[in-house]
Amino acid sequence: MKETVYWDKKIETLPRERLNAFQLKLLRAELAHAFKNSPYYHGVLKGVRLRSIDDIRKIPFTTKQMLRERQEAAPPFGDMVSVPERDIVYIAASSGSTGSPTASPFTAQDFEEWIDYEARLFWSTGLRPEDRYCHALNFSLFVGGPCVLGAQKLGALSIHAGTVPSERLLAILKQFQPTAIWTTPSYAWYLGETAIIEGISPASDLNIKKIFVAGEPGGSIPETRQKIEELWGAQLYDFYGLSDIFGACAGECSEKSGLHIAEDHMLVEVIDKNGEPVGEGERGELVLTTLKKRARPLIRFRTGDIVSYTDEKCACGRTHLRLLGIHGRIDDMLIIKGVNVFPSDIEAIVREKSYLTGEYRIIVDREKHLDTITIEVEGKDRSEVEVQELIGKDIKARLGIGAKINVLSPNTLPRATHKAKRVVDKREHVWA
Ligand SMILES: [Zn+2]
Repeated sequence: MKETVYWDKKIETLPRERLNAFQLKLLRAELAHAFKNSPYYHGVLKGVRLRSIDDIRKIPFTTKQMLRERQEAAPPFGDMVSVPERDIVYIAASSGSTGSPTASPFTAQDFEEWIDYEARLFWSTGLRPEDRYCHALNFSLFVGGPCVLGAQKLGALSIHAGTVPSERLLAILKQFQPTAIWTTPSYAWYLGETAIIEGISPASDLNIKKIFVAGEPGGSIPETRQKIEELWGAQLYDFYGLSDIFGACAGECSEKSGLHIAEDHMLVEVIDKNGEPVGEGERGELVLTTLKKRARPLIRFRTGDIVSYTDEKCACGRTHLRLLGIHGRIDDMLIIKGVNVFPSDIEAIVREKSYLTGEYRIIVDREKHLDTITIEVEGKDRSEVEVQELIGKDIKARLGIGAKINVLSPNTLPRATHKAKRVVDKREHVWA
């Protein structure tokens, strides 16, 4: 069989106009299914007629809070579910870090479509049947777990490693010499550093050529990805997913110029704080509508993730829209003296400096009714005063806020294992 660059050429390269027409057809079918089978959507969608895709704006948004409420009103899966329970074959649940976990149900067909899509994403990075793929994500109710089946579907030898202690994972990497691995960006960094401490060179003793990351903004920050790539002598591909839809909904192709999002599975909107659409390249909240999910359709779901996008055709030939970066979560956005600051913006500055280790912590406090921000960094070969001045100036120029810079010795800050906690907000009543 002749190998192609595409997993599903027809869908992946569909011209924009035809893609939009296809989406409208899918959207109508999705809404009709939800209207007919979900008591909740029956009420919400009554009287809604779609003449064009833009008419979706007549329908109210769905929030995480609403998912929780609908679930509590009709336990255990809620009344947005649009199939009988006997048709549900799999559930994921969110980690519950911001409230009680919400279940995300899949029918057998939803699950099949999802795994096929994961295979498509892996294929677009250049992963092939000759590869050995190590899946180092959690399997416990976590939607990232089954994504390993996507690698397996495309024919790669798939190692279901899970979240084992780092010594065990390094032993797996040494013994089986996988060529690809999926973790979080902070864990990829931590694991690489741990390997060096244990006398293993990630770049020359191991065989990792591709690192897939998701779950944190780090994969979208050029300075962070460059450091991880250097550490491992590998290429990094940023993926993006959410438990309420798919383990990965979007991912970078081999061009690495944005994360393609599956527009045959999802309708994408990016909105400002008033709910109005923002233009290409501008930052806004990602809102997704499922186009094929049967177990629980999600309509205009506010993800809470801040992104920017382009719908220009990619050099790889794929036409599906690209997210130009996952800049952070709305919940992570700090408002310091009235200025919006994302920790990922600070990370980009800290990680580009050769005289810092790249580790950092942000401490926000309030003194005499005024917000203060302290950035702890680890200095290498410059004097403390010099580092304070250089970083302080850069933060002021690029983010428009004054920050106190605390320079520590290397290896003083706590190292992150999975999701990194890098912000300490000591303010009691943040209403600004
Ligand atoms: Zn591409």
